[in-house]
Amino acid sequence: MISAIKGAKDILPAESGKWRRLEAAVRERFRRANYGEIRTPVFEETALFKRGVGESADIVRKEMYAFEDMSGTSIALKPEMTAPVVRAYVEHKLGKSQPLVKAYYLAPMFRQERPQAGRQRQFHQFGSEALGSDAAALDVETIQLAYDLLRDLGLTKLDVKINSLGKPADRAKFVGELRAYLRDREDALSEDSRRRLDVNALRVLDSKDERDQQALDGAPKLADFLDEESRDRFAEVCETLDAVGVPYLVEERLVRGLDYYTETTFEIQSPSVGSQSALCGGGRYDNLVELLGGDPTPGVGFAAGIERILLALENENVAEEKTDKIDAYIVSLEKNPRVAYPVAVELRRAGFVAEFDYLGRSVKAQMREANRLEAERVIFLGGEEAERGEVSVKNMSGGEQTTLPRESLVNHLRETRSA
Ligand code: AMP
Repeated sequence: MISAIKGAKDILPAESGKWRRLEAAVRERFRRANYGEIRTPVFEETALFKRGVGESADIVRKEMYAFEDMSGTSIALKPEMTAPVVRAYVEHKLGKSQPLVKAYYLAPMFRQERPQAGRQRQFHQFGSEALGSDAAALDVETIQLAYDLLRDLGLTKLDVKINSLGKPADRAKFVGELRAYLRDREDALSEDSRRRLDVNALRVLDSKDERDQQALDGAPKLADFLDEESRDRFAEVCETLDAVGVPYLVEERLVRGLDYYTETTFEIQSPSVGSQSALCGGGRYDNLVELLGGDPTPGVGFAAGIERILLALENENVAEEKTDKIDAYIVSLEKNPRVAYPVAVELRRAGFVAEFDYLGRSVKAQMREANRLEAERVIFLGGEEAERGEVSVKNMSGGEQTTLPRESLVNHLRETRSA
């Protein structure tokens, strides 16, 4: 037997309803804020992620599904969406026809991580990128959209954490001092952090290892290195978040390790999903478009993990509303599908969800099936009624039963259809 690839999951018919409902909520929220959907290929040239995410990032250095295709080009399954969206923005010169481009996506991502609860090798994200404005309101819109969506889905336990990374030059000064500070305490650091010290010292800040967090007490603070403009900008972001009622915590150790990240950065965590608590993360990246060959263009965005959100919903016991219902189940007294099938087709063509028995089961078994499917109505076909050209319709919630001419069935269902 061949199984699915480790870390990749099937989404079976019984589960896909909650995916579709989540996706519909995502699309509706973005539509209201005037974001257009973007779909990019599942694979890209590996070079895009090396440049656009950075070779020091784990998702590129260790976790990328990269391979050579027949022409010898190195191809990678996308581990994230910001680089592909920015590539498309530059390639199609989207900024030429519109000064501000706001795009959202829903797509599978691929990372060779160690599979565990909330961590897969193929997983799904939705998110947005807004390119063309450095307005603080756009940083807030990004955070607020992510937050409102999670709230709308029913999550109540959410921690929004924000920080400002300032400008790359100020950050570089800070990183220099941080590195020097940590060098003096190298022995106290975790192995991971010792290794990161040279490649990406900033990432030591968000290490979850106790030893690292202790070593950081008394370390230089990034906020002290920001210039006045960045500080004012961050204050504006905070005030605007207050104005739209998004609660947040300023978390000075929240960072992103890559140079093109600028100013605002944020993460939304759910305390109900255990160690993989980040549901979404994002921030501003004013230098990325230029890095990928476009004119200098500011940008801001976020990405949220769908599997983790579904896990958080389950852990918070958010009740699921069932919408995939059967309007009518056709119970045939004759074991000949040619009797029931045309009725099912007629109802389906008229817009109803209709089902019947393909397995030649007894009337009792057909009724059991109608109950299992929670069909709203059962239609009885056959017997003396059929000889008189009639059918019976039973309302499964109220219990009442009506007999009517076969040809008025569709009209009757229309008239008695529940909202
Ligand atoms: P990132 O692009 O790493 O900032 O991730 C954004 C969000 O995607 C995270 O907050 C998670 O919800 C989700 N995510 C990242 N990696 C995985 C993974 N391997 N499996 C499932 N979800 C993930």
